[in-house]
Amino acid sequence: MKAVIKKKSAKGMEFVEVPVPGIGLKDVLIKVKIASICGTDVHIYNWSKWAQNRFKPPRIIGHEFVGIVTKIGKEVTRVQVGDRVSSESHLYCGHCYQCQNGYIEVCRNYKLLGVDHDGTFAEFFVLPEHVLWKNDPDIPDEWATIQEPFGNAVDTVLSEDISAKTVLILGAGPIGLFATGIARACGASLIILSDPNDYRLNIGKKMGAAIAVNPKKEDIVKIAMDTTKKNGVDVVLEFSGSNQALNQGFKVITPGGRLSLLGIYERSVNIDLNKEVIFKKIRIYGITGRKVFSTWYKTSRFLSSGLVNVSPIITHQFPLKDYEKGMKLMKEGKCGKVILKVGE
Ligand code: NAD
Ligand code: ZN
Repeated sequence: MKAVIKKKSAKGMEFVEVPVPGIGLKDVLIKVKIASICGTDVHIYNWSKWAQNRFKPPRIIGHEFVGIVTKIGKEVTRVQVGDRVSSESHLYCGHCYQCQNGYIEVCRNYKLLGVDHDGTFAEFFVLPEHVLWKNDPDIPDEWATIQEPFGNAVDTVLSEDISAKTVLILGAGPIGLFATGIARACGASLIILSDPNDYRLNIGKKMGAAIAVNPKKEDIVKIAMDTTKKNGVDVVLEFSGSNQALNQGFKVITPGGRLSLLGIYERSVNIDLNKEVIFKKIRIYGITGRKVFSTWYKTSRFLSSGLVNVSPIITHQFPLKDYEKGMKLMKEGKCGKVILKVGE
């Protein structure tokens, strides 16, 4: 089978022929229809500092997908050959303290698909059955593949009620754009979106941002204060991983407001806790992964009902062999979500 593999501890990847993997008793073999590119894959491709510390070649990359179950192990009971599936990318253990107390997303033993376990940029790959999600037939393949990052956005937006709230979304990458659509669908009264990338701001307007601001050209703090009658926003959602953006978020959040953090920072962040959090009585949520599987149910319903239309965000499609074109677009930010067609 064909696969995109990271073979060496250096920049780049290879498109190679490798054997179809075998399965264990509780595993399934999945034939991939579509895989999508995540920022993590770009980090691995570019061999960033994070990748150098975390990733051990050789490994087939990728963790977002939709595919068909083609073979099942003898002890598999939850799925059948022919089922159209996606999956949780945190391959959790199910028996640690966190897994047994409602925090599967921070399982102490989890393996990350496409990082610690061969991934989805291949014609076939193997998963344990307990991480699989059976897709709603009303969700097309091009949308089913993005459910994993969409779930990040669901948990960030809905870590508290958002209806009729004023919201500042920092970062209009694919996940910030999903969040814009979700906040809109859930009745946020005002959505302000900030990103230095004008191409992505334009998609954000289609997703429901009333005000789209390029913070390199305009004063985002002034605009957010002016449009909220100097109250500041009720909710700040951080998807940029930029220290500068986070500081802007702290400046415009209204006392008593809520801040949810998904973006990952390259450097440690300095905040004046007394001034920015305690005396303003801000609630801060750290988000990682998705709730398993309650967030998958919400994601599936947002998409199957049409409450959120993600078509404007899926800007490019390539065959798997052209994955490098997608990596390049992602690096330059000249795209929303890039999907790779792998098989029928
Ligand atoms: P992305 O890199 O495509 O998007 C980040 C966006 O932030 C870009 O469009 C960029 O132009 C913008 N940006 C940069 N500086 C900014 C600034 N000063 N103000 C406003 N915007 C700015 O990433 P993505 O795939 O959309 O993911 C969003 C973030 O979430 C990333 O930081 C990613 O690493 C992180 N992430 C976290 C988890 C988790 O489980 N916590 C999971 C997936 C992704
Ligand atoms: Zn666990």
